[in-house]
Amino acid sequence: MVKITVDQDKCDGADCAECADVCPMEVLVLEGDKIVVKNKEDCSLCEVCMDVCPNEAVKVEEE
Ligand code: SF4
Repeated sequence: MVKITVDQDKCDGADCAECADVCPMEVLVLEGDKIVVKNKEDCSLCEVCMDVCPNEAVKVEEE
């Protein structure tokens, strides 16, 4: 199982959305002005979302 969390207090939402741009599986999606997690079972654990986030708001963990 994959656990993906987006800390909304740290996330810049629509002002950034880098993670949504880079996610190859369309797991992280910009909805309105918020990043939301969709179909987390599609996540390949590539972790590029964590790499591109300037605020360390995205956390991907295997559990
Ligand atoms: S680890 Fe990769 S596949 Fe999973 S949410 Fe992040 S960018 Fe998308």
